[in-house]
Amino acid sequence: MFRSLNKEIDKTPLEDWIARKIGLKAGELTQEALDTYQLAQIRKTIAWAKEKSSFYRERFCAVEPESITDFSLFSKLPFTFPRDIRHNPQRLVCTGQKDIARIVTLKSSGTTGQPKRIFFTPEDQQLTIDFFDTGMRNLVGPGDRVLILLPWRQPGSVGDLLKTGLEGLGAKAILFGPVSDAEEAVKIALQSKANSMVGIPTHVLAMARSKNGKLLSGRLKSVLLSTDYVPRSICIALENIWGCKVFNHYGMTEMGLGGGVQCPALAGYHLREADLYFEIIDPESGQVLDEGETGEIVFTTLTRVGMPLIRYRTGDLSRFIPGKCPCGTVLRSMEVVRSRIAGQIKLQNHSLSIAELDEVLFLFDEVVNYQVRIDRDSGMDCLYIDIKMSENTLVSKDKDFKDRICRALRCIPAIQNEFPLSKQIVIINSGNSVPFSTGTGKRSIIDNRFNND
Ligand SMILES: [Zn+2]
Repeated sequence: MFRSLNKEIDKTPLEDWIARKIGLKAGELTQEALDTYQLAQIRKTIAWAKEKSSFYRERFCAVEPESITDFSLFSKLPFTFPRDIRHNPQRLVCTGQKDIARIVTLKSSGTTGQPKRIFFTPEDQQLTIDFFDTGMRNLVGPGDRVLILLPWRQPGSVGDLLKTGLEGLGAKAILFGPVSDAEEAVKIALQSKANSMVGIPTHVLAMARSKNGKLLSGRLKSVLLSTDYVPRSICIALENIWGCKVFNHYGMTEMGLGGGVQCPALAGYHLREADLYFEIIDPESGQVLDEGETGEIVFTTLTRVGMPLIRYRTGDLSRFIPGKCPCGTVLRSMEVVRSRIAGQIKLQNHSLSIAELDEVLFLFDEVVNYQVRIDRDSGMDCLYIDIKMSENTLVSKDKDFKDRICRALRCIPAIQNEFPLSKQIVIINSGNSVPFSTGTGKRSIIDNRFNND
């Protein structure tokens, strides 16, 4: 449920934006009006996709768009999977090549998987800019200076569209890009007088825990974390070091980059519901779950022209939070995504996810980033955690630090039960050798158990 806050909280700007987009005035949005709009757009999307895409023509050959008169009928339609895009993305594209302004290639997290290619028209990109313009109003306003720590060099990249969105609301975008040198990023933040920033969680944490990171304390009013899922431990660390509000954004390229963003209540995300329809399903049975139950997030694009996606399986786990958000909006709230189905490593009797490790490890002031792998040594599973330490850490504390980490990790059931011997957990501190990913790919546990058999 929602935590109660004494202070008056501004309503998410997404509500009035959505109201206007569906033909209502500010303050007039109701759940019924949104439902009616979303169903009409679902029918339009199915009709458009059936007409223009060979994939959906085949997939929905027996579906009459006009027959989808309620969400329960829609929930009987088949899903679209990431593998459908990987296999032959062109079959999902609904326009000619000349209408496509940008193609994003997403590498598979495995080494052998085919990449996914996502196609956008200029109209699709404009919808994303509109969302960024409105969504960012949760945390910045006219005259604010926002450091962008996301890729921006390609026209139509996330940083490029965010810059245009910020300009729309009268804020100044300072383009930096993903952080490979945290000290340099802090220097630019100070020089440019940034009072807000948008970045990848581990990158922003590295800035805060760098030698001069504390100099930004009191200068930032907000930080938006995006791209990877956001560990709660990183939000807590940034709030403590910088004394600023930390907002979470949820989105993926397939969604058109933006999907949802927290309002100042910092509870769940409010979603881009004029452009996207969200469902929470049981990942095993595929059935839509009741409000409040946790399952896989599935979305359908409602306004996408180039490559509409219908009932797309995200692999992310979340739920709709029952009740009203403290900001007072009529919009639903989706709980902040903490884990992915694919991120779970199956051990003998338990599963382990990078999300569980994040919540323990990032609480240590000394930790900037880490890499984790499971190896099978002499028939025994061992967990190797290579930690990139903050430059503020004294090396003399090394032994004590490793002991504290091992003790803390024991609160994770999978570690307590599946790695019971102390020699099964190996903490390495190999200086700066932990590769500092500058990409936007998802972090994961490396599983080498079956490579050497
Ligand atoms: Zn809210």
